[in-house]
Amino acid sequence: MTPSAALAHSASSIIQPYDPWHDLGERWPGVTIQVVPMTGDLLGQISGDGRIIELRAGTSSGQRRATLAHEIVHLERGRHDCGPWQTREERQVHAMASRRLLRVAELVTAIRALGGSQDLRALAVTLDVDLETLEVRLADLERRERRVMRQALRRQAGLWCVA
Ligand SMILES: [Zn+2]
Repeated sequence: MTPSAALAHSASSIIQPYDPWHDLGERWPGVTIQVVPMTGDLLGQISGDGRIIELRAGTSSGQRRATLAHEIVHLERGRHDCGPWQTREERQVHAMASRRLLRVAELVTAIRALGGSQDLRALAVTLDVDLETLEVRLADLERRERRVMRQALRRQAGLWCVA
């Protein structure tokens, strides 16, 4: 990759949000998505020996996007078992998916677009994720990322605390 191509790539990766549907098609072409009714609080799962990702019907766009990203991380890690008995694995998978879905530049852009509002539900909708994914990401910000956000949101410093 030439330096200008690398710059263009990095610029586009900042602007383009992660698209789990595209990612699945590129890297897991044999896996199909089915939107199905589910009971309990399950939003998605891998079935069919890893060949099917089921997403819960009747969910929001943000929930489906975040759930698909979560299940893709499960595919990468080779564990299709998903549930409360896998608490540690679930936490790691959720953190990885939230990091992939919500880059700092996207967080900053969305916060600015909302005028610095701390309404996390509105921010989640703007970022097309579910509230839980946004909360996981904000709690998981690294020191360097907090610094970048603090600098970028200096004008909203009274509203946003990312110390
Ligand atoms: Zn899971």
